[in-house]
Amino acid sequence: MTSTITGTTRTALVTGGSRGIGAATALRLAREGVDVALTYVQDEAAAHEVVARIRSYGRRGIALRVDSADPEAVPAAVADAAQALGRLDILVNNAGIGVLGPIGTLTPADVDRVLAVNVRAVFLACRAAAGLMEHGGRIVSIGTALSRHAGGPGSTLYAMSKSALAGLTKPLARELGPRGITVNLVQPGPVDTDLNPADGPFASGQRAATALDRFGTTDEVASLVAYLAGEEAAYITGTEVVVDGGHAA
Ligand code: NDP
Repeated sequence: MTSTITGTTRTALVTGGSRGIGAATALRLAREGVDVALTYVQDEAAAHEVVARIRSYGRRGIALRVDSADPEAVPAAVADAAQALGRLDILVNNAGIGVLGPIGTLTPADVDRVLAVNVRAVFLACRAAAGLMEHGGRIVSIGTALSRHAGGPGSTLYAMSKSALAGLTKPLARELGPRGITVNLVQPGPVDTDLNPADGPFASGQRAATALDRFGTTDEVASLVAYLAGEEAAYITGTEVVVDGGHAA
């Protein structure tokens, strides 16, 4: 199946698409007929494996090595993705890092690094994408349920950074709405990835905090992102959608 807006194959950029939620999202979009560019920073083998799977679905796929902490590289990646795929319809701001620990242990360098990747890169990618989305579009960012509910001590910096995405999403939705570009924020609870393994040292408390008593899967987040990125979600914008197994229940 080819996914189209006005009869043309849609294209997406997924940041941090080599592993975890980003990889699942890239693959889900490709299965729905979208051509996908993804970024990664370290794991080249994983990125190329995702690209191979995208191509196995008959879609175009490319991997770009881009450090989201680099303010020059982020908009360049958006432009490169649009050029390689011919247009840009969907931006998924997924790349993110967590530096956890009691506030007294977190350094100014930690703060700079987390804000650069989790906040500045998202702003710059949105800015670049907004300039390139000529036929309407979809912007979906990945926040965290921890910005809504304290997950316990140690998450101050991470939660603070992700909270900024709500402040970006709503006014940007207003700004880009007249051009048919929707902007939404997905707030996942615990999801089993390398970042937050379901068998990790902090897993049992996170699992118990959900109503479903389990971690989510990457596919369970990817399906929501793909929905928000699709044509059927055309009237959903400026909102936060929670996929957290009932953490908020
Ligand atoms: P993973 O650590 O499993 O994967 C992170 C991905 O982001 C990888 O593809 C990695 O690339 C890429 N990445 C990391 N840093 C950078 C960077 N500086 N520049 C470019 N790419 C980068 O994370 P998750 O899949 O768990 O998380 C994805 C998003 O979801 C993050 O924003 C995270 O905060 C958020 N989230 C995760 C939750 C969870 O429980 N897992 C819960 C709520 C939100 P590479 O392979 O090269 O290292």
